[in-house]
Amino acid sequence: MKQMTLPEICAAVGTLRGITEQFLCDLIRFPSLPGKEQQAVDFAAQRFAEVGEVERVPLSNALREDEDYSDPVQGIEYEGRSNLRVRVAGTGGGRSLLFNTHLDVVPPSPGQDQAFEPRVSADRVYGRGSCDAKGQVAALFTALLAAQRLGVRLNGDVLAHLVVEEEVGGNGTLAMVRRGEQADGCIVMEPTELRILSSVRGAVWFRITCTGRAGHSGSAGQTISALKMAIRTMDILEQYHARLLAASRGIPLFDQFANPMPITFGKLAAGVWPATTPASASVEGVLGLLPNKTHKAVAEEMREAIRDGGDEWLRDHFKLEFMYRHDSHVLDPGHPLVKGLAECCREAGASGEVSAMTASCDSWFYNNQLRIPTVVFGPGSLSFAHSNEEQIGLDEISEAAVILVRFLAEWCGGAKR
Ligand SMILES: [Zn+2]
Repeated sequence: MKQMTLPEICAAVGTLRGITEQFLCDLIRFPSLPGKEQQAVDFAAQRFAEVGEVERVPLSNALREDEDYSDPVQGIEYEGRSNLRVRVAGTGGGRSLLFNTHLDVVPPSPGQDQAFEPRVSADRVYGRGSCDAKGQVAALFTALLAAQRLGVRLNGDVLAHLVVEEEVGGNGTLAMVRRGEQADGCIVMEPTELRILSSVRGAVWFRITCTGRAGHSGSAGQTISALKMAIRTMDILEQYHARLLAASRGIPLFDQFANPMPITFGKLAAGVWPATTPASASVEGVLGLLPNKTHKAVAEEMREAIRDGGDEWLRDHFKLEFMYRHDSHVLDPGHPLVKGLAECCREAGASGEVSAMTASCDSWFYNNQLRIPTVVFGPGSLSFAHSNEEQIGLDEISEAAVILVRFLAEWCGGAKR
């Protein structure tokens, strides 16, 4: 038995470059929008069987009854669909490590032609999902394949959850978490530019429906515009956000950001006719939250803010619903998972920077609900995710794979045969 050297790992990952590129391009070709991931799941099941035991974990419509179920897209069917659980069994005695990443992607952006036809140019892969998160799946696959080719025998188990529906609130991960899992550490793979994100903010996606009193434009004084009420709620919530932001300063890792938890209004719908006051209007948006508040507290404060916002009509004529509710997640940056991974990053030439994620993802399910120490880490940049120029560098994927192989040996224990 002997330890692997960094040059050996780099050489093994480098040899797989063509396989990594092909794997990623093949995966991008599946238009795996939330609810339509099954072909991508089948592909991943087949490929990960080369490196470990693959279990298909069936989903069921009972998931919709869960209090943490997210439903920004209504009526998604679960029967006949599945997540994947991959296990590379260790020889015993070491720490286990769980990975999570997702196979679903957001729809193509305006101006993104042929989003599901991967394009490789100057060592970068373009296409929907290239960094969020199919490049992550490719990095994990490359790491496990490189470890196998190097003849590494780890002591602890390596587990991976390859899930559906991350983009609509984490329903795939929710299903995995509800069936239970044990691990000594977890890495949720999302594009972080190889930074280790040990704190992640939460978020709520909300829908406010206002009702007014409809009527002809000629009957001024007798109508109440639901559209104007909806606009009023946006003002009220912006003021609430300013107060929430002020109360959320001084939290480690988040404080370097001017606004780590923005409020965004993404949809406004009202009316059918220019000369008719609308009876109903709705606003949809997202509000971020930091570890000083739970999603339940924020939801209650939003409701209070609208109710007490000073408009007598609005007070009794709005409905506030939540389609997605995530708490923040915080892991002590001094935890061995953070320090060990940072050390492996630096050895491989990456910065090993530890920071906070100013977006929400599935990490809180593992960290808060299963009490598995969790970080978010991966190649590629969040600035390209969901954009019309989504892309990732193949060298970044290789670098991530090198770091992961190195870290697996450190964390799980073990050596080359
Ligand atoms: Zn993602």
